[in-house]
Amino acid sequence: MTPQADLLIDKVYIAGQWRDGERRFAVTNPATGQVIAEVPDLDGDAAREAIAAAEAAWPAWRKLPAKERASLLRAWFDAIMAHQEPLARLMTLEQGKPLAESRGEVAYGASFVEFYAEEAKRMAGETLPSHGVDKRILVFREPIGVVAAITPWNFPLAMITRKCAPALAAGCPVVIKPAEATPLTALALAKLAENVGFPAGVLNVVTASRPAEIGEVLTTDPRVRKISFTGSTPVGKKLLAQCAGTVKKASMELGGNAPFIVFDDADLDAAVEGAIASKYRNSGQTCVCTNRLLVQSGVYETFLDKLAARVAELKVGNGLDDGVVQGPLINQAAVDKVQAHIHDALAKGGRLIAGGEPHALGGTFFQPTIIADVTTEMRVASEETFGPLAPVFRFDTEEEAVAMANATEFGLAAYFYARDYRRIWHVMEGLEYGMVAVNEGILSTELAPFGGVKESGLGREGSRHGLDEYTELKYVCVGGL
Ligand code: NAD
Repeated sequence: MTPQADLLIDKVYIAGQWRDGERRFAVTNPATGQVIAEVPDLDGDAAREAIAAAEAAWPAWRKLPAKERASLLRAWFDAIMAHQEPLARLMTLEQGKPLAESRGEVAYGASFVEFYAEEAKRMAGETLPSHGVDKRILVFREPIGVVAAITPWNFPLAMITRKCAPALAAGCPVVIKPAEATPLTALALAKLAENVGFPAGVLNVVTASRPAEIGEVLTTDPRVRKISFTGSTPVGKKLLAQCAGTVKKASMELGGNAPFIVFDDADLDAAVEGAIASKYRNSGQTCVCTNRLLVQSGVYETFLDKLAARVAELKVGNGLDDGVVQGPLINQAAVDKVQAHIHDALAKGGRLIAGGEPHALGGTFFQPTIIADVTTEMRVASEETFGPLAPVFRFDTEEEAVAMANATEFGLAAYFYARDYRRIWHVMEGLEYGMVAVNEGILSTELAPFGGVKESGLGREGSRHGLDEYTELKYVCVGGL
């Protein structure tokens, strides 16, 4: 068997067992429409079994010395990287992104496993000055308990490791519910975890075509102590409300409406490269991708010309083919949303600079698109397009740019290009976002806290702060000394 066949798994993983389901659903390749595999279509009862398995595994997992948990995570990291190529191919098959991006995602996703393998050994508590001569204050940092991770299709591997690695490092077992479009990468990750020796029940994967039923169990079952969700803001709000009944701790990585601001003093060529990476990577289907380009009047037309020239070079096609930098969109609904935003912008006076139509390749391929002279009445100003459409707004002053950038209920990532150091400080401080990239088009790394403010979410993933999301503090007062 080729390594890829080894990793193409059509069963779910619960309590250390690979299981079938009574019903199954198809996983299709968005580039060809062909069915890759059929996986179990589970219901709420199966989710409860997975929770029970995780709960049963918890006492031994939390007691395992941190160094041993770290060794298992390190072995998982090594296994993921040893299978970088087959994992990347599997991801491109089910998600559509170009192979080079899939390889990058495997390495990015694995980096969280490596980082938290190290961090597991540093989960320290503290002693604090006490409030009495006969008392002492101890603070223990303890694993929170069973974690449920619900993940989206746009990063089928990294969104899982960003949650599981810190949870496992902290001593928490997990139940993963991957997106119905991309369950195969999740199952392959579980296989590699099994291969390196994670105990049964510590990591479980449940798949379903109707996520609401499983979601309800994961958010209402009192045995689950923490939900970590990445996905759209409406679903996140629903899950958060469902968590209220059992007062579950929740992390929410939700939608964005990222501004990308280009000031008159920017290095325009660098800004164009940053915009290409931030806007068209993963066909514009990333939560941190640029949703609005704001360009200052003095460089407006020059920037548009340079951006249009670069966009004309973007090769669209099947992500497995050489030289392709933009794959298909995930499904027809995604295409419909991009088209609706384009029609709305053009009807309200937008100027089409590039693209604007489904691609001649058919299916869900779409032309990389630029629309200029976009205004705040257009849908793209307030809604996440999640596709390869770059709407360009014009502004005159620094204050106007910051106000436009902040005029949204979202607050995930923001980008800007400038050279003046005072401007850089003022704009950086003025942006109401969880993450700001200055003269950079890509900011994700396991070393930094990833997350949003306002309706973009709660909590952070990555860095030492990512571990805190899976722990509770226990204060112990020792008296009578
Ligand atoms: P989605 O909200 O439709 O689905 C995300 C996950 O939730 C999937 O696993 C899905 O099966 C599940 N789900 C859907 N309805 C559910 C329900 N009622 N109960 C329980 N689970 C349910 O989002 P998507 O379309 O997969 O992903 C795109 C969205 O994710 C975008 O809005 C994007 O911005 C966001 N996203 C955010 C981040 C971040 O870190 N902030 C990262 C990637 C994607």
